[in-house]
Amino acid sequence: MIESTMQDFPLNVGMMFRHGRALHGESEVVTFEGDHTRRATFTELAARSERLAVALRDLGVAPGDCIGTFMWNTQEHLEAYFAVPLQGAILHTLNIRLFPEQLAYIVNHAGDRVILVGDDLAPALARVAAELDTVEFFVVVGDGDVRVLEEAARDGVEFHRYDDLLAAADPAAFEFPEIDEWAPAAMCYTSGTTGNPKGVVYSHRSTFMHTIGVSTGTGVPYTWNDRVLPIVPMFHAMAWGAPYSAWMAGADLLMPNRYLQAEPLARFIAAERPTTTCAVPTIWSDLLRYSETHDVDYSSLQRIMCGGAAVPRALMQAFQDRFGIRMLQAWGLTETSPVAAVALPPRGVEPGTAEEMDWREKTGRPLPGVELRIVGDDDTILPWDGEAVGEIEARGSWITGSYYGDPTPEKFHDGWLRTGDIATITRDGYVKITDRAKDVIKSGGEWISSVELEGRLLAHPDVVEAAVIAVPDPRWDERPLACVVLRDGATVTPVELCEFLGSYVAKWQLPERWTFISEVPKTSVGKFDKKVLRAQYADGDLAVVEL
Ligand code: ADP
Repeated sequence: MIESTMQDFPLNVGMMFRHGRALHGESEVVTFEGDHTRRATFTELAARSERLAVALRDLGVAPGDCIGTFMWNTQEHLEAYFAVPLQGAILHTLNIRLFPEQLAYIVNHAGDRVILVGDDLAPALARVAAELDTVEFFVVVGDGDVRVLEEAARDGVEFHRYDDLLAAADPAAFEFPEIDEWAPAAMCYTSGTTGNPKGVVYSHRSTFMHTIGVSTGTGVPYTWNDRVLPIVPMFHAMAWGAPYSAWMAGADLLMPNRYLQAEPLARFIAAERPTTTCAVPTIWSDLLRYSETHDVDYSSLQRIMCGGAAVPRALMQAFQDRFGIRMLQAWGLTETSPVAAVALPPRGVEPGTAEEMDWREKTGRPLPGVELRIVGDDDTILPWDGEAVGEIEARGSWITGSYYGDPTPEKFHDGWLRTGDIATITRDGYVKITDRAKDVIKSGGEWISSVELEGRLLAHPDVVEAAVIAVPDPRWDERPLACVVLRDGATVTPVELCEFLGSYVAKWQLPERWTFISEVPKTSVGKFDKKVLRAQYADGDLAVVEL
């Protein structure tokens, strides 16, 4: 019998770390501080990561321990992205915007022993500090006043300053332990729209494979000529893999820190000239709106990656027409590491044409390494014909097969992850999401796509934001309610908006209920929060016009 002659070489974060450091030592990580920047080369950052690994070990951290991070996108967060998994511990990125009870739940559920916390975020962590049963150490990044956290913390919990620990760590003491590729490297909890958040644990292998997957030409590859601005938080599904893939490619990393509003972000973009960046659609709508009344310079941007929610065609078109920037749509979940599909048009399609936009408006095509299928209500597997509508199921080397300490068999199906997203898939693998299962509008036995209605509404020049939700209807079970944010001073009426929509969607799908609101509520990761809108409607808090 012939056996493979290949070396048994683990795919792990250590290998990624060594690669970026050895080949791209001069590349830089820039952290925005509002009025100035902090800069470190990959060589410097790698040395600090090693010191952090030693410092954590000196605190008693052992392989398999969970280390929480409560930080914005900063140089130090990237240092932890390497230092923690490098020594066999597990990086647990904590969503700083979670409700306190959810935050306490996930820290205790994961059993975090240490939390690295930005000094400016100490007050947010203080709200739950007394309930964090497993935390023994807080390591504070920055030299700001954190008394509020010290006072709230349980007795006996130790406080250290990050820079002091690094200064005291002996760099010569660092050794790369042998880490099995199947060992856990990082964990992230889903934002838990229903019930408690669920923990997804990425292995070294899955992290490596995801990094390679997104770096292929079918993903969002970076090169050492790129300057990457990850706006998506490092606590939201590992910033979509951008930190690790940029490091592997030697692309500079521009860290926006807490400055995520349009004004400072636009300033950071103009000053540091990123070539590419990634964020949810609401950030791009903000930056677009800001550009209408302020001088901006987005000219360095060649490509924007957008995802986390359906990307409206009008948004992609606006960035193309006004700035010549190509916005690419990607799809994934915390459970899929997260990038599973990217919407690149097929061969032969002319860039900048309406036909190209038709393809880019789709959700994407699976990356090599990810397999997708759609299934119907009775779990039958549906054809890839661009017509059949079903729930997407996924499997592959960076797709989770379970949740940590939370058996949920209903989320899996014969080894496939049920994603909760409803879609069609064309013969050649283009996925088009019509809705999340929980957002679907079931009207008289037919489904109305809220994503489609929202996308069309946004194409109207007076519409700034639009979210369409299902509301109960005595005759049709459910009907759409359009919740619309209008541009300042706009006077367009529901009837006019219906007429506008009528040129694109079937008459029976047109909403007869409308409400104008000042802002669509957002989730902790900046997506439209439709459950809040549903609750507001149920409580009678929305002024609804019926046509
Ligand atoms: P959550 O949104 O629940 O906080 P995730 O960040 O893991 O958690 O989001 C995953 C979900 O985001 C997907 O299941 C899907 O509904 C939505 N999503 C992500 N990208 C896209 C996209 N390009 N188009 C439509 N929906 C998307």
